[in-house]
Amino acid sequence: MKEWFEREKSVYIQFYRRQPVVFVRGEGCWLYDAEGKKYLDMVAGIAAVAIGHCHPRYVRRISEQLEKLVHVSNLYYTIPQIELAEKLKEITGMDRFFFCNSGAEAVEASLKIARKVTGRKKFVAFSGSFHGRTMGALSVTWKEKFRKPFEPLIQPVEFAEFNNAGDLEKRVDEETAAVILELVQGEAGIYPASKDFIREIFRLRDEYRFLVIFDEVQTGFGRTGRWFAKDHYGVKPDIMAMAKAMGSGFPIGGVGVTESVAERLEAGEHASTFGGNPLACVASLATIEVIEEEKLVENSERMGKYLREKLEKLGIEEVRGMGLMVGARVENAPSVASKGLEKGLLVNAPADNALRFVPPLVIGKEEIDFAVEILSSLI
Ligand code: PLP
Repeated sequence: MKEWFEREKSVYIQFYRRQPVVFVRGEGCWLYDAEGKKYLDMVAGIAAVAIGHCHPRYVRRISEQLEKLVHVSNLYYTIPQIELAEKLKEITGMDRFFFCNSGAEAVEASLKIARKVTGRKKFVAFSGSFHGRTMGALSVTWKEKFRKPFEPLIQPVEFAEFNNAGDLEKRVDEETAAVILELVQGEAGIYPASKDFIREIFRLRDEYRFLVIFDEVQTGFGRTGRWFAKDHYGVKPDIMAMAKAMGSGFPIGGVGVTESVAERLEAGEHASTFGGNPLACVASLATIEVIEEEKLVENSERMGKYLREKLEKLGIEEVRGMGLMVGARVENAPSVASKGLEKGLLVNAPADNALRFVPPLVIGKEEIDFAVEILSSLI
């Protein structure tokens, strides 16, 4: 595989610090490298490949659409886009939708919508947040290392401490367009919001009339053991951003809004050439069909619990998360992830002291046992 590493280096901008492996094929929870070695995938393309690699129904549905129609732009109506929005209305409880191509774009659209609808400028985000790398999404992303080289970014933005309602109260006011948050912070290392904190956000929203944006890019589509993380909290945001698992690996993102937000948006205020094209929408429809048919939301809840228990039995003191979005406090996490790769296990380390487990939602006990056995020799 070394030859590929060299070739990549000479032609690709070196933004990524990649693991030394070239993948050529995937099936279910398993990936195969260019030399035929097999790996258990507990990364799932960073919480994206919800239904596992190359699910036969997904492959069939996309292939059929590929032969019919790929792209015409949003100058015209297309059927899969309407069908997908109808389906999302059913599973998210949001009222109207816009489709784009990634999580950052979904956040970007959410921020624009909040400014347009409220006529206000300020955003409040949280410590530990990650919302993407475009200028707007980056502006509400916590890590200074990510933001600094690109300033000036969108202003004004204030960061409140995550899970600290008192601190939030000091930062919101009549100028606040929106408060944006992940219900389970993913890139920070899997930290769920407390129920009290979410209740307080909604109390403050009623007082100051800002909008609440839930970034469900990583938590959506069954990842946390419910269709969406918001279902654990029993609340409905004004705006919801989604992507990642929405197409189970096929690039598609989306924004869901309430009817009252949608009514205040007009033609020409936002757009995307590829957003919601027929192929991407069929990939998303197929993903949702498989999640429903194979009861993967329930499997996420069950297997997530099983995984957390097994990790705790390994002696890991802090195991966090919901469903199959699991974080474990482990020292030297990047080195554990590298050693895991050598032994045929893909796991990601979003921080020096955190391992993140976000496998395909089709994972079963045997695969989890396999992963935990490897980990037991590394921790
Ligand atoms: N929001 C959250 C919560 C994310 O976890 C991510 C990516 O990790 C993004 C937004 C950005 O998504 P994308 O990489 O598709 O632009």
